[in-house]
Amino acid sequence: MAKDANCELCSEERITPWLFEDDNFFVAMCASCDLPMVVLRDHRVDLTDGEVASMREVLATEAKKYFEEKPFFIDELMRQIPDHKHMHARRRPQVPNF
Ligand SMILES: [Zn+2]
Ligand SMILES: [Zn+2]
Repeated sequence: MAKDANCELCSEERITPWLFEDDNFFVAMCASCDLPMVVLRDHRVDLTDGEVASMREVLATEAKKYFEEKPFFIDELMRQIPDHKHMHARRRPQVPNF
């Protein structure tokens, strides 16, 4: 597993609650967004389709519990740390009813 000493995600600091972990990924509350976030335990973004599918699956499982069945979506945009694979689960915005 590759680690980058300057990477916040590699440090795996448990400053927020962790919801899930296995050898490949962990799901923790994001310190910036306060939302569930799945993180690869390796400093890279070149994942296989299978790895991406597994990450979506573990995040969706935890997000369902966290959002208590309210609608959410998986946001794969990596704004602050573009070189370490992670995804957020975010509440799906309500459709404006005008
Ligand atoms: Zn990293
Ligand atoms: Zn975040």
